[in-house]
Amino acid sequence: MTSIVVNASGQTHTGKIRPGNEDALLVDTELGLYAVLDGMGGAKAGEIASGTARDVIHQYIRTHREHTSPKDLIQAAIQAANTRVHRDAKQHEDYKGMGTTVVACLVVDEKNVVIAHVGDSRAYLWREGRMELLTRDHTVVAELLLRNMITLQDAALHPHRNVLSRNLGSKPKVKADVMELPVRAGDRILLCSDGLTGFASSDAIEQILGSNDTAEDTAADLIDLALRGGGRDNITAVVIDTGRAEVPRHTQIIQTTGSVAWWRRREMFLEAAQKRGLSSSPVCAVLSPDEALEIVAGNLSEAIFHDLEQNSGINVWTYAENLAKGWFDQDGEYEILRDLMDILRGAADEILADIEKNGEPYALGLDIAVTRALIVVEMAIGGLLADRLRTVEADLVQLRTRQTFGAAEGTASGFADQPTQPYMKPVRVDPPPPEVASCLHLALGLAHNLLARQGARQGAGDCLVRAHEAALEPVGPSDAELAARELVAGSGDETRVPLLIDALDQARIVHLDAIKRQDVTDEVRAAALRRAATAHRRLMCAVASIVIESTVPVSEALQAASAKTTELRDRIAKGEARLAELERQQASRTTMKKINPSRSRS
Ligand code: CA
Repeated sequence: MTSIVVNASGQTHTGKIRPGNEDALLVDTELGLYAVLDGMGGAKAGEIASGTARDVIHQYIRTHREHTSPKDLIQAAIQAANTRVHRDAKQHEDYKGMGTTVVACLVVDEKNVVIAHVGDSRAYLWREGRMELLTRDHTVVAELLLRNMITLQDAALHPHRNVLSRNLGSKPKVKADVMELPVRAGDRILLCSDGLTGFASSDAIEQILGSNDTAEDTAADLIDLALRGGGRDNITAVVIDTGRAEVPRHTQIIQTTGSVAWWRRREMFLEAAQKRGLSSSPVCAVLSPDEALEIVAGNLSEAIFHDLEQNSGINVWTYAENLAKGWFDQDGEYEILRDLMDILRGAADEILADIEKNGEPYALGLDIAVTRALIVVEMAIGGLLADRLRTVEADLVQLRTRQTFGAAEGTASGFADQPTQPYMKPVRVDPPPPEVASCLHLALGLAHNLLARQGARQGAGDCLVRAHEAALEPVGPSDAELAARELVAGSGDETRVPLLIDALDQARIVHLDAIKRQDVTDEVRAAALRRAATAHRRLMCAVASIVIESTVPVSEALQAASAKTTELRDRIAKGEARLAELERQQASRTTMKKINPSRSRS
């Protein structure tokens, strides 16, 4: 059998107050048969009725499938179930008066299903955003309403509003209402018992069916909905999905119509960019105004056009990279490039407004696509900026390595060839042995003298003391950083950092010199030198980190670019939400006309 059902799922729940569950359900995707049944009768009779009817219908259709028309087949299956339940009710005193509702969906072929029902279990069709009731309840009140014998208000309060006018099992014969329903990919059918419809509004049910979740999740959500609505009855829902709808994606529309609409306005784009002062941007300084327009604005317009057409971002990316590379290679500032991009974005906005003004249906989608292209521009430029930042950082690391190890222990070149870690690893050292500590103390006094003799640079004495403390104590990098921050703060403002580095340098040289002059064993001297050198390196690294943090405008530029991108992304998200809403509204209007042209929606 060919079926377009791609996914179906059912769930049933006893509800919050009923002692047992008299509902039954059937999901047989292979056979293409789905059903919900709601049993009634004393004790366990309701459960027996619905369960028996389900099994008979299932078995009947399985064995008679090939011999009869689908409508006759399901009618006959329901009659067979009726006969069986009616007989059982007569034969067992406990089952007297039992019966059940049934609503069933039988897949006929790729384009049709048959819906049959007896009682007040219902079938709904959800199509393109709108839900439609397919069945008419077989209740006394519904029959009275149909004959105009009562009003809707009366019906809501009628004492017999739950009394069925038709059910499966209470009489020897039953007639089901059977309809053939053409379906298409993307439709969703819901079969449910009155435990759902009695405790959940049709609006809420419609919303859940339209959630785009799987059939399984949707069925679970519907049960949950009825439980939250009170759940005073057994609740059953079967959701049947008939394939994915193959509507043209709006990217396809943008590709064909949207890109042409954009391209037609190329001259308008150039003009708008000119009016906004494109040719006076420093980025265009070496170009004549006409060249600036053609190369900067014209090429962007063309890149956007090609990306719309091919649904890619590569052309815009290449454009932005080339432009930014040229600018950065001249040491141009990011700020100026960003101003230029703002001019181009403003011009693009004018074009989009013009397209929207003309009421072209893809205007919103095009807006999103172009905004996305401009984000690609931001990202391409941001990527270049990040590369530049990495270069600056590498330079600093190299510089720091040289500063730190330059003259230490007389093996400058050997150390400088080994790049240090850009960030310090946490290192903890034990307190020095007494003889090493003593050596360090003696060296400190000598170092102070050496400093005084040389003419100490500003802050050098401080640096010496900090390094000495670090050499004695088991300090970690965070302590060194703290000391460095204090030193930086003590040096005045950050513009005086180079002076601080000079002071650190001087302190290190005299410190190590003073240690070398100590009259101790080679072993003790080496240990003291190692500790002091380590302490100075930590201090210098920490100061260099602060320099990187405080004097790298590139990282600020990156932050600004990222903020701008976030803003643009927000705009895209809002646009896409609005587009989805418009599409939903459009789909609903179309569906209502198609499904039920005569009926007005309340
Ligand atoms: Ca019920």
